[in-house]
This record gives sequence, C-alpha cells and structure tokens, in this order.
Amino acid sequence: MGDSVNPFESFQEQVDEAADYVEADEGMLERLKNPERILETNLSVEMDDGSIEVFRAYRSQFNGDRGPYKGGIRYHPNVSRDEVKALSGWMAYKTATAGIPLGGGKGGIVIDPAEYSESELERITRTFAKELTPLIGEDRDIPAPDVNTGQREMNWIKDTYETLENTTEPGVITGKDISSGGSEGRVEATGRSTVIAAREAFDYLGRDISDATVAVQGYGNAGWISAKLAEELGATVVAVSDSSGGIYSEDGIDAVDAKRHKRETGSVVEYPGADEEVTNDELLQLDVDLLIPAALENAIDEEIARGVRADVISEAANGPITPAGDDVLEDEDVLVVPDILANAGGVTVSYFEWVQNRQRFYWDEERVNDELEDIIVDQFDTLVDAYEEHDLPSMRVAAYVVAIDRVVEAAEQADVWP
Ligand code: NAD
Repeated sequence: MGDSVNPFESFQEQVDEAADYVEADEGMLERLKNPERILETNLSVEMDDGSIEVFRAYRSQFNGDRGPYKGGIRYHPNVSRDEVKALSGWMAYKTATAGIPLGGGKGGIVIDPAEYSESELERITRTFAKELTPLIGEDRDIPAPDVNTGQREMNWIKDTYETLENTTEPGVITGKDISSGGSEGRVEATGRSTVIAAREAFDYLGRDISDATVAVQGYGNAGWISAKLAEELGATVVAVSDSSGGIYSEDGIDAVDAKRHKRETGSVVEYPGADEEVTNDELLQLDVDLLIPAALENAIDEEIARGVRADVISEAANGPITPAGDDVLEDEDVLVVPDILANAGGVTVSYFEWVQNRQRFYWDEERVNDELEDIIVDQFDTLVDAYEEHDLPSMRVAAYVVAIDRVVEAAEQADVWP
C-alpha cells in the first residue's frame, strides 16, 4: 500500500475538487476543509505486570453544523493526528451524503491491540473514555467502532461514561451489544450498504450483480460481510484477503467458511477451499467485475490503479483510493462508488441505534434493513442525478458536491458566534 500519501491531504484535495462546483466563499471553504477541534491526549495505563505504559490518543470533531459529531474509534499502530483528521472529515461528508442529522468526528489510539491482554485493553479503553467524557454525549459527540474495535470496546466506553456522569445514556455511543442498547443489523450494516451500492451501480450500467465476480480486500467486519452479502445476491466471490495475504478460487470462495477459517487460524491464508494464494496487490488487479477494498486508506495508488481490471469499485474502506489513483480509474471509466456513500450503512444504522436509544423503543432487524436500503438507494439516485445533471467527473465528486451543499446550507443557518 502507498502509505506515504497523507490521508488528510487526500481528503482536502477531494473537497477542493468538488468545491469548483459549489457556491461557497473562501472562508466557508476553509471551514469545510478543517476540523473544528482535536483532542490529543497521552493515556497512562497500568499493565498486567504493574508497569505503566503511555498511549497517544486523538479525537477530532470535524463539523457539527448538521448535528452532533459522529464517527468511530480506531486502534492501530498507524493512527496519527492527520489520519484522524481525514477520517473525521470523511465522516462529516458521509453523514451529509446519507442525509442523516449528524456531523463528523473520529478518534483513535496508537496501539497494536494484538499485543495486549483483554484486561489491559479494558483499562486502556476506559482511560480513553475518561478523557473523552467531557467531550462526548448523545447531543454532543457519539463515537462508534472502527478498525480493531467493536461491541466490547463500545460497551466499556458507555459504562465508563455513564458511571462518571451518574446517568443512563445509551445513545452516547453506537455499535453496542444488543443487551447494552445496540441495534439489530448494526454489525452487518457497513457491508450491507457496500453491496447495495454495488448492486445499484451494476443496475446503472445495465448489468446484474448476480453475474459478477468479486474480489474483497480486507476480511474484517466490513469486508467479510460484503463478501457474504454479495454471495447471497448470487455473485461469485473469487478472492479475499487480510493483512497476511490473499486467496483465490476461480469457482468461488465460501465466504462464511473462509471467515470460520480466519477465526480459527487468524487469517484467510491457507484456507483449504482456495486454489491459490495471491498478494494484496495482485488481488486488487484481478480480472473481476467488482472490487471491494475493505482494509485501510491508500490501498489503490496510481500504480495499482493502472492495473485494476474491475468495472465497478464499491469502497467499503474509508479513503482506499488516492487522488492520483482516482484520476487513473476515471480515465479508464471504472465506476467508483465512493466511500462516503458505499460504507455509509455503518453510520446510518448507528443513527438508527441512537434514535432507538433516545426513544427507548427498539426495531426488529427487518425494519432496520428496510430503512437502510431505502436511504442508500435514494442517495445513490441523488448522486447519479447530480453526476449527470452537472456532467461531473466522477461519482465521488458528485457525492462531495451534494454533501458540501448540505453542510453549507446548515452552516449558513448556524451563523458564526459571537
Ligand atoms: P476490521 O478491524 O474488522 O478489519 C480490517 C481488515 O483489514 C482485517 O481483516 C485486516 O486483516 C485487514 N487489513 C489490515 N491491513 C491490511 C492490509 N495492509 N492489506 C490487506 N488487509 C488488511 O475493520 P473494519 O471495521 O472492517 O474496517 C475496515 C475499513 O472499513 C476501514 O477503512 C474502516 O474505516 C471502514 N469502515 C468500517 C465501518 C464499520 O462499521 N466497521 C464503517 C465504515 C467504514
């Protein structure tokens, strides 16, 4: 992966490109490109052996013009101030693209969680939650899971916040366990929207996703659910990968069984049902109809993009294509469904979770999935309309144009104080 590309610079380039098609003055554009505030903190945590270790952590609150800040918390050694800033900006435009009444935020801890015990991870998470407590709240900022965090971490953060604030406020965080106030359908939501968006893209091209061959990079929450749901629509998942490498099978890989193998062995590599192994770079350049990048930023840089043979890319990951990679794919007429729509299912069902928490009234999975489907299909159509009406260079630019318009409208109402 081209790790040298700074994700915040990529994010700002994307906003700049769309800004050419939006009516907003210079000051407003500056506001649209930078976070409102960032918490940078050093967490001192006691390890199991009694020693103290210090972890750098961040929370970026990018834009709250359309509602409380909203975005996940990532645990990864490559977390940085700029990465968190970029991810929080993508969130602001993602909630706007989905049309849900929330802003954008993101957080992270610089850590490889695989190196720590569960009790250490609990103390690290609760220490971060203590630092976050003055900033978050169901009307202020609502975190959620991201890479290497899930229901367990969300439950710890909720419990720490509620204990310190002496309250019951399940809507302070989403992606919780059902028993702690989580929503049906949340675990599958990101993969679900990625696949719904891909299905709509094939439909737009006059094709059917059930005839498609698919490659998925990254086999965590977003990736494996995308593979499973694509398979349920009749597509053939021929390749999947994780950080240890990838596997390929011309006749298709059983998504559920490959996940079982990863759970048991730690990786999809050496899955007995595969014909051969492939590297991550080879996977991205396979001759498939649909490519789903579901790992990290910058997976598809200019060089990789030149070898991409897919007709449609649906971005489950945030920022998987660099701006230079995007230019190549645009020239090659690859239809890229941008992350801020394709993976918006996660935040959309997080929004449903928050609504249910506030109402203390819970929906069944069918209702969650139906409401999600309506939003993704509607917003896909809105992007296509903008793309065609203004003859925009890509669906990504269309998404930013639609989203920036919505944020600017709210920002103008919000006024500048004092
Ligand atoms: P996860 O931790 O569940 O899974 C990440 C997967 O990526 C793992 O299989 C890991 O092995 C793989 N991976 C990591 N580095 C890799 C590399 N260099 N090459 C190939 N594979 C690699 O994380 P997730 O929640 O599935 O998140 C994946 C992406 O989806 C991220 O970009 C995240 O921001 C985005 N996303 C997630 C959600 C969500 O609800 N979970 C929502 C929106 C966007």
